[in-house]
Amino acid sequence: MLKLSRACALTFSLVCLLPAGLALADDEETERPDPKELDDDLLTVAQSLIERGQETGIAWDLLEGLVTEVGPRFAGTAGDRAAVSWALTELRELGFESIETEEVEVPRWVRGDIKVEITEPYPQDMVALALGGSPGTPDDGIQAPVVAAENVEALQDMDRSEVEGRIVFLSERMEATRDASGYAEVVPNRSAGPAVASEMGAVATVIRSVGSSDERVAHTGGTRFPDDVDPIPAAALPNPDADMLERQLDTGRTVKLDMHLTARELSPTTSANVIAEVPGRDPDAGVVLLGAHLDSWDITPGAHDDAAGVAIVTTAARLISELDRQPRRTLRVVLYANEEFGLSGAQTYAENRSDNLEEHFIALGADLGGDRVWRFDTVMNEDALATASAMFELIEPLGVEWGDNDGYGIPDFIPLREQGVPILDPVQDATRYFDIHHTINDTLDKVDPESLQQNVAIYAALAWLAANVEEDFRPTPVVADDADEEDEAEEEEEEEEENDEE
Ligand SMILES: [Zn+2]
Repeated sequence: MLKLSRACALTFSLVCLLPAGLALADDEETERPDPKELDDDLLTVAQSLIERGQETGIAWDLLEGLVTEVGPRFAGTAGDRAAVSWALTELRELGFESIETEEVEVPRWVRGDIKVEITEPYPQDMVALALGGSPGTPDDGIQAPVVAAENVEALQDMDRSEVEGRIVFLSERMEATRDASGYAEVVPNRSAGPAVASEMGAVATVIRSVGSSDERVAHTGGTRFPDDVDPIPAAALPNPDADMLERQLDTGRTVKLDMHLTARELSPTTSANVIAEVPGRDPDAGVVLLGAHLDSWDITPGAHDDAAGVAIVTTAARLISELDRQPRRTLRVVLYANEEFGLSGAQTYAENRSDNLEEHFIALGADLGGDRVWRFDTVMNEDALATASAMFELIEPLGVEWGDNDGYGIPDFIPLREQGVPILDPVQDATRYFDIHHTINDTLDKVDPESLQQNVAIYAALAWLAANVEEDFRPTPVVADDADEEDEAEEEEEEEEENDEE
C-alpha cells in the first residue's frame, strides 16, 4: 500500500497527482519463499554486525554533530554548504576512501516572512508557514474570502465560479499510521493543491498541515506549479489553527483572510552530493549503494529527516570497513543534495552515470526517520527473493516483519528504480514521524538512541550480505513482468508440444 504512497510521502513528484485509489491500490503481501542457504561465514559476520550495530555510538555522534554543528541546511544556503563540508570531514575521519563531491545545480527558494490573519467574521492571528515554492503576495497582501474543500478531488469537483477570486482552504486531516499511508492520502493537498486552485482562479491557498502534530506548529513541504500554471501564494496551517478556521466557516458567515508573504525564488545555485566508498575486493562485482539526503528544510535541523538517515547509512558502511576482511563489492555511501525541494541530487547522480547504472548491484536507503525498522520490503526479481528471505531471517529477531516485493526505497532512488536498480527496503515505523516531519520540532531529543542502533544493525547486516552474496537481484519486477509474459508464452508452447506428442 505504501509504495507510490511513499513516493508522495517524502517528495512532491508527479506521482502524487495520481488519484488516491490508484496510488493506494494493491496491498498484497509477497509470500516469503524458503530462505536460500547462505555461506556460514557470511552469516557469522552479519550476526556480528548486528551485535556491533546495537552497541555502537557512531551513528548518534554523527546525528548529534550534524544537527548541532550545522543545523538547518536547505538547498543553496550557507547551512547547505556547511553540511557538505561537515560530511567531507566526518567521512575522512571515519576512514572512508574515494571521498568526493559531485556538483549539483539546485533551485533557490527563500521563505521570507509570513502573516496570516482572519479579518472576518471573528478577527484572529493564525500561525502559518509558507510552502516551499510559494511566491510572495503583493506588498499590500491578499485579502479575500475563503472557500473550503476537503481535498484536491473535492476542489476539482467544484464550479470555477465558487473558487475564482477566493483563497482556497484544503481542510483534510492526516491520520498517523505506521506505514505512512495516512500521509500519502493527504499529501496531494500540499504538492498539487495550490496549482489546482490556481488553475481554477483562486488567488491563494492555505492547507491544513500534512502532519499529525496537535501543537500550533505548521508542517512545511514542497508544492509544485507546472510551467503553464501561475504560481499563487500557498501556506500551511497547524492543525489547531485549521480547526479554528473550520469553526469560523461552520458559522455560515463569510470568512476573510489577510495574507502577507515575502517568499521568493532566486536564481539557481550549486550544491553537492557527497560520495564515499568502502572498496570491495572485486571491482567487477558492482556497487552496493547506501543513500540518504544531506539537506533539510530551512526551518528545521531535520534530526529525523534526514540526519538520522545520514547517520544510519554512514555508520553501517563504517562498521563493515572495521571488519578484518573486505567485502566483495564496493559499498558506496551517497549523501544526496536537495531531496526536499526537487530531488536535484538524485537526478544529477543518475544522469552522470546514465551509461553505467547497471554497476549498481543493489541500493539501500534511509529517509523515513530514525524510529525502529518494522518491515522489510524489496524490489528485485522474484527468483532472488529466496536470498532476501535468508537476509530477513537475520533481522527478524529485531522485530521486523516480512513485507512485499513492491517496495519503494527512498525518494532519491526514484531515478535508479526507474532504470531497474534493485532495492532492499527496511521500513521505519512512521507512527510518530509525522508529528515532527518538516517542522521546527524535528530536533535531536525526538530521536531514540536505541531505535537508531536497531537501524544501524539492520542496515549493516543487509549491506554486508548484499556486498557478498552470490545472487542476481536484477531485473526488477518491471522487467520481470515481461519475463512472466515470456514464461507464459513458453508454457503455452510447451503445452502445445505436449499436445502434439499426444
Ligand atoms: Zn527526507
